[in-house]
Amino acid sequence: MAALPAQTFTGSPLCRLSDVASRFRATSRPDAEVSLVVVAGREVVVRAPAGVVGGGGQLELQALLLRQDDPELRLGEGDTEEQISLEWVAEDGAPPRALPLYLLGQDACARWTFALDVSAARDAFLAFLRHACELEVAMKDVRLLLPGLSLDAAAIAGQAVALSQWHQTHGFCQRCGAATLPVEAGTRRRCVGPSPHKLYPRTDPVVIALVESPDGARALLGRSAKSTPGMYTCLSGFIDQCEGIEEAVRREIMEEARIAVSDVAILGTQPWPTSCELMIGCVARATSYEVLLNASEMEDVQWYDRAELAAAVQAYDSHLPLQEIQRRTWKDLGFFVPPPFAIAHHLMRAWALSPRPAGESFFARQAMLPTLLPDAAPTGGATGGGGSANGAAAAAAVAGSSEDAAAAGPGPTGVRAAL
Ligand SMILES: [Zn+2]
Repeated sequence: MAALPAQTFTGSPLCRLSDVASRFRATSRPDAEVSLVVVAGREVVVRAPAGVVGGGGQLELQALLLRQDDPELRLGEGDTEEQISLEWVAEDGAPPRALPLYLLGQDACARWTFALDVSAARDAFLAFLRHACELEVAMKDVRLLLPGLSLDAAAIAGQAVALSQWHQTHGFCQRCGAATLPVEAGTRRRCVGPSPHKLYPRTDPVVIALVESPDGARALLGRSAKSTPGMYTCLSGFIDQCEGIEEAVRREIMEEARIAVSDVAILGTQPWPTSCELMIGCVARATSYEVLLNASEMEDVQWYDRAELAAAVQAYDSHLPLQEIQRRTWKDLGFFVPPPFAIAHHLMRAWALSPRPAGESFFARQAMLPTLLPDAAPTGGATGGGGSANGAAAAAAVAGSSEDAAAAGPGPTGVRAAL
């Protein structure tokens, strides 16, 4: 079965081998070149001339490069080799504040890249960047930045948000109830109980499936009450314990639409950082037609023919802002689908646009001709998410800034590069 194009939030340029934390700890601190990605909850700091994010085009993460002689930002001196923080002197003479650092990996220039979590001082740190560092920056929900972030930047930002959120929500050990602390340069946590337990960052698997009708002519799409008005997407749901991917697809489709599914194949995957999910994109063949809606889960589920879906997918080939594309498509077709930074979009694109005779099964043809998927690269990344509301976030996404932030040179504290 052919693969989908590389999905948004994948393809990080950082080296993430499991020994990266021990290699950092073996590095002499004064020699360490450190780059920081600033996050607070789901938000990341990006370059934003005049504080405006919008208008289409490419956005860049605003990374901070630590300088050895920086009086305001330095690696925490009191840290152990396992626990590391950034000491920030917000005002002259004030005691430094310790902000947590979580190691993401090492970039191609051998710089250690960390997520800097400023949740405890979001507004103050943003003001510091703008005034003390003279940076034109904004802090935005990573989902709203997706149309404008490059694949590399989205992958790094996504990892930073996911890891920071994991740390924030795992302050206690699920085995003994004791408090936990970051270890291994913030790549793990360990509890302080009498028998220390190690905690690893979590990812929850979610299946999302393009279900084609028994005659291969139509695809099953639906929407929940939480979906953005007008948007229909592939059906999805969390994988249950001790359940295979194929079984989860069959169960979810049966639960949500009372449609029976036979064959299931995986086409690709997409991590979704704000809810720490891994979307597993599948194509499946239905063995029945009649939809019986499960109103407790879905607001509507319908079959769409290939021409309708092709038109909805190809609407995104325009250079118009996302919201305008969605508004026009909804008006013209009566629905719209998730944008190209969602794996759901690429499942639909593959099914609707792959060359095959009318009525021929996409599933069967892909099994025989695995290279015929249309080559459409994503431009960012949301999805009709399983247990989360990320589909709604995708549809609400704004376009990125087209303005060049190159004029934002180093500030007084010596910062700073864009990713
Ligand atoms: Zn424990």
